[in-house]
Amino acid sequence: VTGPVPEPIYAEIDLTSIANNTRILKEHAGSARLMAVVKANAYGHGAEKVARTALSNGASWLGVARLSEAVTLREAGIEAPILIFGYTPEAGVPHLIRYALRQTVLDADHARALSRAAEKTGAQISCHIKVDTGMGRVGFDAVEGECRDAARRCAEAISEVVTLPGIHAEGIFTHFATADEADLSSAQEQLVRFSTVLSQLEAKGLFFEVRHAANSAGILSLPDSRFDMVRGGISLYGMNPSPVVRADLKGVRPAMSVKGCIAQVKRVKKGCSVSYGATWKAREETVVATVPCGYGDGYPRLLSGRGRMLVRGQSASILGRVCMDMTMIDVTGIEGVQVGDEVVMMGRQGDAVVSADEIAETVGTINYEVTCMVSSRVPRVYR
Ligand code: PLP
Repeated sequence: VTGPVPEPIYAEIDLTSIANNTRILKEHAGSARLMAVVKANAYGHGAEKVARTALSNGASWLGVARLSEAVTLREAGIEAPILIFGYTPEAGVPHLIRYALRQTVLDADHARALSRAAEKTGAQISCHIKVDTGMGRVGFDAVEGECRDAARRCAEAISEVVTLPGIHAEGIFTHFATADEADLSSAQEQLVRFSTVLSQLEAKGLFFEVRHAANSAGILSLPDSRFDMVRGGISLYGMNPSPVVRADLKGVRPAMSVKGCIAQVKRVKKGCSVSYGATWKAREETVVATVPCGYGDGYPRLLSGRGRMLVRGQSASILGRVCMDMTMIDVTGIEGVQVGDEVVMMGRQGDAVVSADEIAETVGTINYEVTCMVSSRVPRVYR
């Protein structure tokens, strides 16, 4: 047997949309550099392909969460600067050096641990200092107390670690918790705290080559947060940071669709039930199509009895529970549905669209999670 195994479901990734979205983000970034955030396998889209596309269309840096994600990109031959946002333990330092990666410093203890490990190798690691201005996740604390006092203490703590052996403090950054909300006052407060820390550091003669703060929402809503680099994630994938973000990015297009084909079509008599738990019973004769897609593919089980798919450009409601590998939909009234017909779980078919936002709203989550959840079982097909 030769050739790929035929798959009944796949995620189609439109790289021309990624290219288009990158160019739009770069325009908004102005003179700042653009980092393409490709953590979590590029929000489910496939890190290597997205990284290459973004890098050829205006991005010059890559952002990931884990050392392993960065190593995978390097092993694939990608040479652009890569910053790891998350925790890398001392044991990861030889990899940071071998693969020329930038590491986020989470706090003073982390700086000392990285420094110790770097000293043993005799090499230096390029680091970006993380400042916690209100996200409350990681970083040198600039939150506790009045802005100037907090900034002074924070700058003091940073100044103690930037001179540690084995560490080259190339960058400094913070991350917004609420830049995607209608009320931007706390995001603005974060920005003020970050700028105050920077001025305190400058007063000590400490300057950083790459200062950065803005995520997609920040790029859109807080132009003053662009500094030397912006970090674009969700907008790169053509989705909005939130339904209320003030200015949306005109012209960005969703890059991911999830498609498959119908596996069975049958008529179900009045009174018969469909799927686990028999939660759905036919009130009248119904034409039911079975789709080979379920929560094992990352299709949310919370869509049971609530979601919809597209067949022949029309909407087909989910009947009963989403199973691990299959889901049943109502195709009554859709003319001529047959086995092999294309079914769209997410994306466009003709004029009809099921967006990641719609799925997210139905199941009570955010579009980020919807594309991240598409499991590794679902092949990514690029066009
Ligand atoms: N910067 C950091 C540190 C992040 O963790 C993320 C993602 O959550 C981003 C930037 C990109 O954010 P967004 O996808 O909202 O643009």
